[in-house]
Amino acid sequence: HTEDIKVLLLENVNKTGQEILRKQGYQVEALKSSLPEDQLIEKIRDVHVIGIRSKTQLKASVLKHAKNLIVIGCFCIGTNQVDLKYAAENGICVFNSPFSNSRSVAEQMIGTIIVLARQIGDRSNELHRGEWNKVSAGCWEVRGKTLGIVGYGHVGSQLSVLAEAMGMKVIYYDVVNLMSMGTSAQVHSLDELLQQADFVTLHVPELPETMDMISTHQFEQMKQGSYLLNASRGSVVDIPALIEASKAGKLAGAALDVYPNEPGGNGQHFNNDLNSFTEDLRNLKNVVLTPHIGGSTEEAQSAIGVEVADSLVNYVNLGTTSGAVNMPEVKLRSLTLDEPNHLRVVYIHKNVPGVLRRVNEILGDHNVDKQMTDSRGDVAYLMADISNVNTSEIKTLYQSLEDLGSRIRTRVLY
Ligand code: NAD
Repeated sequence: HTEDIKVLLLENVNKTGQEILRKQGYQVEALKSSLPEDQLIEKIRDVHVIGIRSKTQLKASVLKHAKNLIVIGCFCIGTNQVDLKYAAENGICVFNSPFSNSRSVAEQMIGTIIVLARQIGDRSNELHRGEWNKVSAGCWEVRGKTLGIVGYGHVGSQLSVLAEAMGMKVIYYDVVNLMSMGTSAQVHSLDELLQQADFVTLHVPELPETMDMISTHQFEQMKQGSYLLNASRGSVVDIPALIEASKAGKLAGAALDVYPNEPGGNGQHFNNDLNSFTEDLRNLKNVVLTPHIGGSTEEAQSAIGVEVADSLVNYVNLGTTSGAVNMPEVKLRSLTLDEPNHLRVVYIHKNVPGVLRRVNEILGDHNVDKQMTDSRGDVAYLMADISNVNTSEIKTLYQSLEDLGSRIRTRVLY
């Protein structure tokens, strides 16, 4: 029953998310901050759902006390704060919100392209120091210039649309063949993109293949007086090579929002202890440095609230794992759930041979309308919609599944 579901929200989870969960009739307790470990253990004992942001550490030592917990919502992008493997092996599904801030990043890039083209960062710094310096040399309109987008995913494709609206020509490079937005065009190689673009902007994930993706060779390919923007991940650009390219005048400007080693919190210094190149970077002309704020807007925060809360509701009410970070993706259309004598079985189990046969022996006494199963590592997830089940049979069905040695967690939804 939805009114029996207990939800604990920590770290001031956005109101949009809280409302969605309350509307379901769940018992929601929302706290403004994270909790020290002993208090967290006390609170987590009897909740079914927990929502956190980046500060709350949900390691095995905490999760082992969470006997009723079925799902964790990370109302943020990262999930390093959760022991994902332990959670999966104990039937606890974890969700986050990777794409809620794509638009915010794209907008920041649009602003930054103009800031670079007009050297606004340097002019502003000069005037903050009291220095009037009205120049037009080396300052450009962006209209008619070519933007090269590397990685045409959520952020890259949004940016494509916005840039065309300002009259830029857009080309992009991606490892996947994708549909072009507007009149943009995909190019076949990174070098091709680098040779044509006036502005190069990076929107690839952090992967072994994208490590130092832009280094000395790539700067050599770029046009004289072009610009580089990186708001993807710090590992993607070889910063000493960027410094060289900037000093040599190859780059007319650069903008970095992400760095190989970022300070842990606000107020901490961005210094040589973390990044040996910091001093050189700070002294470069027309280089805009921002502290990983591409996705940091009020709108992104409220979109995160909605996206994660929706995932939690779909998981609690329907067992749907779409978008989960530690479970296979399993979803069935829920056409029959509301009808009498229909129910849904969710069976999370160890990924070992012979389980499906035994489960189907148990389910086989009823009419299995739909079934889907998938595995991820050592954990498998089965979902089945069954009809012709009397309410009196539900307990037996549940218990038979629970008695199987492979069982991690059984849920019967009706
Ligand atoms: P996405 O997964 O939607 O898109 C990434 C694209 O890169 C995909 O189309 C993929 O096919 C492509 N790709 C992967 N490897 C590639 C390669 N070697 N060469 C070319 N293309 C490759 O990701 P997204 O949501 O658009 O995010 C892009 C990046 O931005 C990620 O690194 C993400 O972590 C980062 N990000 C930063 C901020 C910020 O605050 N600065 C906010 C959100 C996202």
